[in-house]
Amino acid sequence: MKVMINRSTVTLIEGDITKEETDAIVNAANSGLRGGGGVDGAIHRAGGPAIMEECRQIGHCQTGHAVITTGGKLKAKFVIHTVGPVYMGGDKGEAELLACAYRESMKIASKKKLKSISFPAISAGVYGYPLHEAARIALSTIISYLKEYKDIEKVRLVLFDKKTYDGFKEELKKLL
Ligand code: ADP
Repeated sequence: MKVMINRSTVTLIEGDITKEETDAIVNAANSGLRGGGGVDGAIHRAGGPAIMEECRQIGHCQTGHAVITTGGKLKAKFVIHTVGPVYMGGDKGEAELLACAYRESMKIASKKKLKSISFPAISAGVYGYPLHEAARIALSTIISYLKEYKDIEKVRLVLFDKKTYDGFKEELKKLL
């Protein structure tokens, strides 16, 4: 599914983010930037050790913040590592922290003058965020950023399975 927001496109696809050819891909990292399972493990496996070495030098990233490294062996030139919240019932500021993770990632992309960026479904795996809520926050944050700043031309949400893709698609339709 693809929609236009001003001059930018937002595309939902079912797929593997490590294969993306956008200027940057976003990693759903942990605050120690130490790698792990899920999309984080997949990105480090595909990108090779150079990314982890840069992460080690950066050291840490707070929840809701983002840092950038090169893309190592990936096709994407950069990896933006952001840390989404662990879902703990929804009354611990999770929604704002998740929105912040998307916003900060886009701000870093803008600052680096990148034109395209791919996101996974941050916090919607091991961190336990309910899919539809996570999708609504992701999409509304991306859309409001693109309405305000026009520099990023292409945003792709790369969803790993059909259930996640369908959840994002339903929420995107509701937002339009
Ligand atoms: P978090 O800890 O933020 O929840 P996870 O990596 O556990 O992060 O999951 C986030 C989302 O990324 C989940 O929907 C998961 O299915 C998905 N995912 C896992 N591997 C990949 C991949 N290679 N490409 C895109 N998405 C992936």
